[in-house]
Amino acid sequence: MAYEIVLATNNKHKLTEVREILSPYGITVYGLNDLNLHPEDVEENGKDYYENALIKAQSVQELTNLPVIADDSGIEVIALGNIPGLRSARYADECGGYDNAMATIIKNLEGKDRSARFMCDIVAVNIDEKPLLFEGIAEGEIIDHQDGTRGFGYDPIFKSKATGVTFAAMSVEDKNIYSHRALALAKLVSYLKETGRID
Ligand code: IMP
Repeated sequence: MAYEIVLATNNKHKLTEVREILSPYGITVYGLNDLNLHPEDVEENGKDYYENALIKAQSVQELTNLPVIADDSGIEVIALGNIPGLRSARYADECGGYDNAMATIIKNLEGKDRSARFMCDIVAVNIDEKPLLFEGIAEGEIIDHQDGTRGFGYDPIFKSKATGVTFAAMSVEDKNIYSHRALALAKLVSYLKETGRID
């Protein structure tokens, strides 16, 4: 059964990952550009990942009849008080890019517990009457150097507990099984199966 979904993002990395993860289930994922959708700029000022994902999903909801999903995600370093968390993208900007942001985190973690997690909330609208939430959490730790060249953002310093290697060093196939985004999307897929939208 063919199923189509719009991903409310301009982040090419997220679009690629979500496409790779959902296409085996016969789900076609459109980016905003593919459908020429231009939502008004929204401020991601929610108090948590759910609210931010909802803001992004709702900004596109009125522009299409297709189901819309939005992802809000971030990395939380426990010993640093769960930063950068919701502010992961802005933190990298403020540090002058991801290399500097990762170096800053590594430095601030010297001598401290290295536990960290990646969080992802996927909110879906235009499927049921109410917005749906699917959450994925990937546990791991921050290593003291960058390892690997795949992925994006903070991937080179995050060693996943499930695989023992960083998100940037593991295969694309593994990241698409073990990442926070993959775990959240697996819940979306289960929901679509249970409700008879996909086989
Ligand atoms: P958002 O677009 O506001 O949800 O920002 C999410 C930010 O969290 C990204 O820009 C990255 O900084 C970080 N992030 C989220 N998911 C990942 C991932 O899979 N790998 C690396 N960094 C990620």
